[in-house]
Amino acid sequence: MNTTNIVNKPDNKDTKVLIIEDEAQITRLIELELKYEGYEVITAVDGLEGLKSIRDGGPDLVLLDCMLPNMSGEEVCKQVRSDSDNVPIIMITAKDSIEDKVKGLDYGADDYLVKPFATEELLARIRAVLRRKPKEQAGTLNYDDLWLDQFNRLAKRGDDVLELRSKEFSLLRVFMMNPEKYLTREFLFNKVWGYDFIGESNVIEVYIRYLRSKLQEKKQGKLIHTKRGEGYMLRKSDLK
Ligand code: CA
Repeated sequence: MNTTNIVNKPDNKDTKVLIIEDEAQITRLIELELKYEGYEVITAVDGLEGLKSIRDGGPDLVLLDCMLPNMSGEEVCKQVRSDSDNVPIIMITAKDSIEDKVKGLDYGADDYLVKPFATEELLARIRAVLRRKPKEQAGTLNYDDLWLDQFNRLAKRGDDVLELRSKEFSLLRVFMMNPEKYLTREFLFNKVWGYDFIGESNVIEVYIRYLRSKLQEKKQGKLIHTKRGEGYMLRKSDLK
């Protein structure tokens, strides 16, 4: 698996697309097109590697081939949804029968593309699926009394504006995209700092501490909970 940042088209540079495909030539083609559009691209060559990459917190969108070694695309899709991960998934397959399409959508895929497909169609589907992402549609995320305006990078708790630095904002955004779930340090690290970052191993703890003090947890109630061996969870303090 590899990660690449391309910054020629800044609109897409924060969008990481995972391609799960065993045919290297197809992967390479899609990868080139997506990078040209400014997306960040990561790849996996079989179902197991792909599933691991999703669970590690990699992608904002998944292009998932159906026929894969080790674990089929349908099975990957099923597993991801049973993790209650709602990362958008576009299934890509050579099969074009109605049953296969229905099966893919039943397993929780957001869209379906049949090989061979035109690049523009792929790009249009990606844009459409990303636009549909419900929580991000309005640009504002909300959990309990927390509000995050993603376009203006403004965070509030109740009526109080939180003065967050860039990484703190990103970290809070990841929590708000995945509320009431324990998130591992690896997941948070990959989401906020990326795979290529080399730094202090306690960076997550440090930033969680910053974030907690800025969320005024002492005054307004605890929001970020810690569980040994599980990670961190955003949860209302009165929720058990
Ligand atoms: Ca295949």
